[in-house]
Amino acid sequence: MSVRVRFAPSNTGHLHIGGARTALFNWFFARHHGGTAILRVEDTDRERSTEEYYEAILEAFEWLGIEWDESPYRQSRRMELYKAAAERLLASGAAYRCTCTPEEVEAMRERARAAGKTPRYDGTCRGGPAKPGAPFCVRLLAPDEGETEVEDLLAGPVRFPNAEIDDMVILRTDGTPTYNFCVAVDDVEMKITHVIRGNDHLSNTPKQVLCYEALGYPRPAFAHIPMILGPDRSRLSKRHGATSVLAFRDQGFLAEAMVNCLARLGCSARACTASGNGSIRPGHCSVAGAGAVPSGHRRGAGVGPPLAHLRERLGRQELHP
Ligand SMILES: [Zn+2]
Repeated sequence: MSVRVRFAPSNTGHLHIGGARTALFNWFFARHHGGTAILRVEDTDRERSTEEYYEAILEAFEWLGIEWDESPYRQSRRMELYKAAAERLLASGAAYRCTCTPEEVEAMRERARAAGKTPRYDGTCRGGPAKPGAPFCVRLLAPDEGETEVEDLLAGPVRFPNAEIDDMVILRTDGTPTYNFCVAVDDVEMKITHVIRGNDHLSNTPKQVLCYEALGYPRPAFAHIPMILGPDRSRLSKRHGATSVLAFRDQGFLAEAMVNCLARLGCSARACTASGNGSIRPGHCSVAGAGAVPSGHRRGAGVGPPLAHLRERLGRQELHP
């Protein structure tokens, strides 16, 4: 099996250092295994995606020295693919047309909440559209019972009760595909073998797994890595100072130092030193040498010590502008 991984940012903002770290792990993993690293820009949010951010993401990777083997794919140019996949699922019976209005669906959820159950679509149109000829969305038929289990390489087995998974909408009434469906179709089309991404995506995983199954694709291996945390252990955000990769560049940081710092976040300094990890640069790095996301990265990665180290190395008193 040839390893194929993807990093899939949205161009709704700058490349964040958390995203850069996830991208690095994908890239290291592909390099170690002689595999393929793919950049896929998820640019279907028409309201918030911009060309400026798209260019800025490419620029950030160029600065960091991360070269993608296949790139960049853009979801906005792949709409026909998603529609064709939905048609195949309709034909196979794995998906169905639903004519319920948003108000009707909200009323179903309200009834479920009142009965103390998980709010979800009640399956009215599973046997056929309730209002033939009316505008319809396309839903994926989800199992009602049992569990969807995801074996995560870092978190171990994670189980999601199927009773809590909705018959998700895969095509909206206007014919546009939804986020989780695009992700799954792309992973299938790109023959992705390992999904390495931030653990904020864990909750999307069961829905994507149901899509892989419906599409007849063996599910990839998953590794959900913890977020970068601020020194106060809360999730890193703008209030902790600069978070975009290009902002660090503009402050005069070296790309090599940035890569070194990001790769080592979450490793204990002792483990890094013991493994001779004095400096990590793309191409020769012991994180890549380990061939996997190191176990030290299971925990949330504190940003404090490595940035202090960076400051020291770069002779700066203040990190933040
Ligand atoms: Zn319906």
